[in-house]
Amino acid sequence: MSTEKPFDVALKQLSIAAEILKLDPEIYEILKQPKRILTVSVPIRMDDGSVKVFTGYRVQYNDARGPYKGGIRYHPDVTLDEVKALAAWMTWKCAVIDIPFGGAKGGIPCNPKQMSKGEVERLTRRYTVMIHESIGPYQDILAPDVYTDAQTMAWVMDTYSQLMGYKVPGVVTGKPLSIGGSLRREKATAYGIMICSREAAKVLNMNIKGATVVVQGYGNVGFNSALLLHQIGAKVIAVSDSKGGVLNRKGINPIDLLKHKEKTGSVIGFVGCEKVTNEELLELECDILVPSAIENQITKNNASKIRAKMVVEAANGPTTPEADEILDKNGVFVIPDILANSGGVLVSYFEWVQNLTREYWSEKEIDDKFEKKMVRAFFDVHKKSKELNIAMRKAALVIGVGRVSDAIKTLGVWS
Ligand code: NAD
Repeated sequence: MSTEKPFDVALKQLSIAAEILKLDPEIYEILKQPKRILTVSVPIRMDDGSVKVFTGYRVQYNDARGPYKGGIRYHPDVTLDEVKALAAWMTWKCAVIDIPFGGAKGGIPCNPKQMSKGEVERLTRRYTVMIHESIGPYQDILAPDVYTDAQTMAWVMDTYSQLMGYKVPGVVTGKPLSIGGSLRREKATAYGIMICSREAAKVLNMNIKGATVVVQGYGNVGFNSALLLHQIGAKVIAVSDSKGGVLNRKGINPIDLLKHKEKTGSVIGFVGCEKVTNEELLELECDILVPSAIENQITKNNASKIRAKMVVEAANGPTTPEADEILDKNGVFVIPDILANSGGVLVSYFEWVQNLTREYWSEKEIDDKFEKKMVRAFFDVHKKSKELNIAMRKAALVIGVGRVSDAIKTLGVWS
């Protein structure tokens, strides 16, 4: 594992884009910093009667293109540095998929797995109170991230609405359907992974039918990506979770594997498969590798051993910048996170529009809009990569950072 700090990685990526774009040095200076960092102290009463004080962050990176947008993460390893990096990536991601949002992220270092539901609810509501003056449907819109979910969003929405005195569904996305959520939100990220893989296969002259797929991580995004790729004819040959992986070159049925995982707690031991470690899994020969777990999985230590023809980054930040150079040199086609996993925020945008207009769309309407936007974003990036003869990641950064920079330039610096 690389120990590189996430915000250093984000700044390195920004510098690459700045150089290619010959970015105005004043705009570059602006983009190196988040616009606002909120650090709040969140005291709550625990079930045993004691008071515990948590620290909450909300980093609002840039809002030149629209309201801040980004998830909130509850995890023991959350740091301000990580939240800043995730907020920067959200900013470029919303620009690449071309939706009118800026970028933000929130986080609370805590372990929700060791807290009761009541404690997590009180933490969420108090955090919302502490940041409520800086969020809202036209200011900053929250969403789920690691260890937060639709229920967390319902608590944020309810608390915020009570403070305002009326229902404000547009302050969060990823809500339950019963209070203004959108159809298709759950599988949205995986739909984007499937569409990017399918379009990339076309440009690489690869037949998606029968293309071999390896997926690291079998949670929401990993499972749904495996399923959707399987449904368009690709062959899932290996899958892992935090406990290890399984391989069957004849193909794995994603639904049967999910049932096995639900029953046993892991993908390990699935019928007809041999066991592989997570390290071995990443190095398997395959057409499409989908890292769908955590950051820093492809590093300078294993990048030269990656034998996939294409890497589709479902996770945020799975590849370090050094590894990127190696993959590029070896001709591996990398579809970067800020393009590949932008399907989640795309449906979040659809949810927000539906909340503001109070008009709700059918699955077909959402699928049609989604397909159009995702395919366009893929080809915007692909075209830029051909035009400038650069890898897809650099092309995505050039487009994302370039669009944000254009907005700042047009707005002007008011002083
Ligand atoms: P999840 O918690 O549902 O699933 C994560 C999976 O990764 C689990 O199966 C877990 O066992 C596995 N895992 C954890 N550590 C691992 C390791 N070291 N090796 C192998 N597997 C490991 O999370 P998710 O919502 O599927 O998100 C996965 C990734 O996708 C995260 O990086 C997240 O930031 C990113 N992402 C998610 C969304 C979304 O809509 N859910 C959108 C954009 C990006």
